[in-house]
Amino acid sequence: MTVEAHKETLGFQTEVKQLLHLMIHSLYSNKEIFLRELISNAADACDKLRFEALSDDALYEGGKELAIRVSFDKEARTVTVADNGIGMSRQEVIDNIGTIAKSGTRQFLEALTGDQARDAHLIGQFGVGFYSSFIVADRVSLVTRRAGLQAEHGVRWESNGEGEFSIETVTQEIHGTEVTLHLREGMDEFLDGWRLRSIIRKYSDHIPLPILMLKEKYGEEAEQQPDEDETVNKASALWTRPKDEISEEEYKEFYKHVGHDFEEPLTWTHNRVEGRTEYTSLLYVPKRAPFDLWDRDRRHGVKLYVRRVFIMDDAEQLMPAYLRFVRGVIDSNDLPLNVSREILQESKVVESIRAGSVKKVLGLLEGMAKNEPEQYDEFWQQFGRVIKEGPGEDFSNREQIARLLRFSSTQDDSEEQKVSLEQYIERMQEGQEAIYYVTAETFAAARHSPHLEIFRKKGLEVLLLSERVDEWLVSSLTEFQGKPLQSVAKGELDLGKLEGEEEKQQQEEQAKNFEDLVKRVQEQLGDRVKEVRITHRLTDSPACLVAGEHDMNANLQRILKSLGQSAPDSKPILELNPNHPLVARLKEEGEASRFNDMSEVLFDQALLAEGGQLDDPATFVKRLNTLLLELK
Ligand code: ADP
Ligand code: MG
Repeated sequence: MTVEAHKETLGFQTEVKQLLHLMIHSLYSNKEIFLRELISNAADACDKLRFEALSDDALYEGGKELAIRVSFDKEARTVTVADNGIGMSRQEVIDNIGTIAKSGTRQFLEALTGDQARDAHLIGQFGVGFYSSFIVADRVSLVTRRAGLQAEHGVRWESNGEGEFSIETVTQEIHGTEVTLHLREGMDEFLDGWRLRSIIRKYSDHIPLPILMLKEKYGEEAEQQPDEDETVNKASALWTRPKDEISEEEYKEFYKHVGHDFEEPLTWTHNRVEGRTEYTSLLYVPKRAPFDLWDRDRRHGVKLYVRRVFIMDDAEQLMPAYLRFVRGVIDSNDLPLNVSREILQESKVVESIRAGSVKKVLGLLEGMAKNEPEQYDEFWQQFGRVIKEGPGEDFSNREQIARLLRFSSTQDDSEEQKVSLEQYIERMQEGQEAIYYVTAETFAAARHSPHLEIFRKKGLEVLLLSERVDEWLVSSLTEFQGKPLQSVAKGELDLGKLEGEEEKQQQEEQAKNFEDLVKRVQEQLGDRVKEVRITHRLTDSPACLVAGEHDMNANLQRILKSLGQSAPDSKPILELNPNHPLVARLKEEGEASRFNDMSEVLFDQALLAEGGQLDDPATFVKRLNTLLLELK
């Protein structure tokens, strides 16, 4: 194989360029975090080497002491962070360092407001990482070699952060990565050992590897002494230390490292489990949903360690998908060091760690909901949609997850989801047997759904569900505390004890009265409807569509189709409101063409009202206009 020794210059993706530019300006007041980010990457690189070396000891290339070194050069005006971790190949440098925007970058840039303080927040949330070097440096060079490759496969990368970078193959004797920042004008504060040490202690004390700096020497005498290394940080794995010896600050800084987050976590839980399986878990809930929460290739979940050796990132076997926002570490004493993803899938130990960890997270959330409802609201806004996947995914914890759910409801018609199922049940009326809900594509459509009319009239609360995941939720959560969850748009409306005998009798009479009309409308609409019938669920609207008791509702059919999946084409039931003047008119209508137009328009408007689309909108408009023209 020939070595590509040539030097090439490549361009950053446009989004990366924009991001760099924004970051330099909006993170200016936080500039010292570049050191935290570089040290965090160096520590990850050492973890990866330690793991890969488990199956190939030669990767250590003789030395086993993994460490990170921070140094500075006053004359050259540079700060350097070096590690003897895994290093990168030429292709890895191109792929990893700043050329390709992370997924979601474009949406992220669109979300920016121009307000510096707010944008700084957003940029932090996006994860600044390696790019943050350019806040303080106008030129960054990186020399690296992947452990296991020959010395001549070293790579040198350099960029001024403005649009291009150069890359060339160089000879590099030691494996690992060295990043050198050529400081901008006015950044001389970082050419100071005391300042660098204090930044390291502030942000990186928890890094379990030694972070070395040359010992400062004072006075003339010191000039003669040989250089001596000094470890600046505590250099022990934070999660192995007793809880009461760890400060809030330390927990928070550790989170920023494992969570690749710029912001503090919302909350966390730290546990040592002893007994049949022994493990330590330190699990965090972030403040904000990351940009890639919905991205299937997302990284950064819970890290797995075995007896303090890093094994893998985002071990999805350790957390179910509906808790994929959880960050942190799980350190097992029982798993073998050579554990693979395949082994994890079948391991009883993992099963028990996972069950225990899920319980801890659910307990943490439940405690927050109870004791810090405002914080819980914040959490729900960010992660509610993910938690709603829970009842379908995790059968054994269904009841507990259901307690965590929050919804919008007709109680206050607010789009903010704040109503719990427990609250709903407490407010249920005498004789009410079910938890009622309506699903629709948007909040407005749910809130104005004609199906709610009778419920509003009788003062019965209905949950307003308008997120896609809600359809899955109600298909897996069919009851809560013995009360069935019931759609107001499905099957015959049966309010049971909530309706008096008199009302029921009246309804039966009306049904008889309108038998003839029902038959005529049915003939007109043919097989577009499953059935036409008289209803008492409407007070203001003339008509609505409902799904058959055992049919899939129209909203879910539409969602499935939009996802490219097949959905049964179950036909709707058209229900007519016998108390509505339009329906009364229709009953008296003798002229066939007008009767047909009116029935068609009633059907189409019922479809529109529930968020459906007309097959033939032009004909609908024409019919409507014909009818309007007859107005006196
Ligand atoms: P993140 O750490 O969140 O992945 P960064 O921007 O900090 O994002 O780093 C981007 C990637 O560059 C890392 O995921 C890693 O693959 C690579 N990288 C950065 N620094 C190093 C290093 N010191 N050694 C090896 N790889 C590194
Ligand atoms: Mg990083």
